[in-house]
Amino acid sequence: MRVNLLDFDREGLMAHCNNLGEKPFRANQLFRWVHQRGQSDFAQMTDLAKGFREKLTDTAEVLDLPVLSLHESADGTIKWLFDVRDGNAIESVFIPEDDRGTLCVSSQAGCAVGCRFCSTGHQGFSRNLSTGEILAQLWHAEHFLRRKYGTSERVISNVVMMGMGEPLQNYHALVPALRAMLDDHGYGVSRRRLTVSTSGVVPMMDRLGLDCPVALAVSLHAPTDDLRDSLVPLNRKYPLAELMQACQRYLAHAPRDFITFEYCMLDGVNDQAEHAQALIDLMSQGAGRGVSAKFNLIPFNPFPASGLKRSSPAQVQAFAHRLQDAGFVTTVRKTRGDDIDAACGQLAGDVKDRTDVASRMTRAPIRMYPKAPTHHEH
Ligand code: SAH
Ligand code: SF4
Repeated sequence: MRVNLLDFDREGLMAHCNNLGEKPFRANQLFRWVHQRGQSDFAQMTDLAKGFREKLTDTAEVLDLPVLSLHESADGTIKWLFDVRDGNAIESVFIPEDDRGTLCVSSQAGCAVGCRFCSTGHQGFSRNLSTGEILAQLWHAEHFLRRKYGTSERVISNVVMMGMGEPLQNYHALVPALRAMLDDHGYGVSRRRLTVSTSGVVPMMDRLGLDCPVALAVSLHAPTDDLRDSLVPLNRKYPLAELMQACQRYLAHAPRDFITFEYCMLDGVNDQAEHAQALIDLMSQGAGRGVSAKFNLIPFNPFPASGLKRSSPAQVQAFAHRLQDAGFVTTVRKTRGDDIDAACGQLAGDVKDRTDVASRMTRAPIRMYPKAPTHHEH
């Protein structure tokens, strides 16, 4: 078995190179060749000693993910479907904007949390991605985009862990991948421009704050435990009071002075005036009191099996205004790439011509109230 160099952050690569008898600065050079230059052919790494290059050629590789399909939306959004073997596929999405380029990255094949409104959640959990598989999404996309746009400058300025999977239920693979993204010898993404989105895995939020504090988004979706239990089953394990305390603790480490709360707008379910008021109460006098927060309302992106509907634009606006009037910074997320099913929550790794995945997904029962989540943090 060859060693996949994408499985390492720089520190890990140094340790590996040390085992091969190489000095730390050689690991830095190698890391830059791989991540900054996108080079996977060791023979081309001309400033490394020939003996080292040969050793790498014999024992190591830079393992790209095979592309099953690539779609480009009318708005410039690009979606990749990558093969992660055994009938599993994951998706990554690039969202170009005037002042930034954002890559939305997956952390798991499927997801065990099973949120009602999420296509990945309906698919069930298949397996955790390795560090190399998480990082390969950025490696592949960045160097593809540079070639496409004919530039040697960085194209991806922001990374959001908002693709398929719950990143904090794959913590041990996630952290080295985040570190390589942040590394100046790697992608040089700033902590403020690297966002982990979580459905609220409380103990791992604390660890992230200590190990690798990046911007944090918490998928809230409901102002009360009753409603949140039914939308995000993980709430039964970590209810709102605990979640809010974890947010408060995270703020001591966070690169931004607020937590982003995501709120998926579901027609008639969580988008009424009473829900807005309950949310204001939660944040001003309930468990969320004192947590510095911004709200990001996401119009629900429908998928066939959900049985749910998107709130009307008027309903979304009314909800936003109530929060704003109560003094909360609130934005409404623009839906991008929905013509290619690349919008939030539509990622399912749907592999049309590989019947094992496709049939498993169409046969999967619709779990309106899924069973308690299984945990994959080690
Ligand atoms: N598992 C993590 C990150 C991936 S989901 C989490 O849940 O935070 C990224 C965001 O998309 C989350 O806020 C999620 O709630 C939201 N989302 C999921 N399904 C959606 C859908 N169908 N429409 C709109 N947003 C959705
Ligand atoms: Fe998993 Fe996030 Fe989807 Fe919930 S919204 S099922 S946590 S990917």
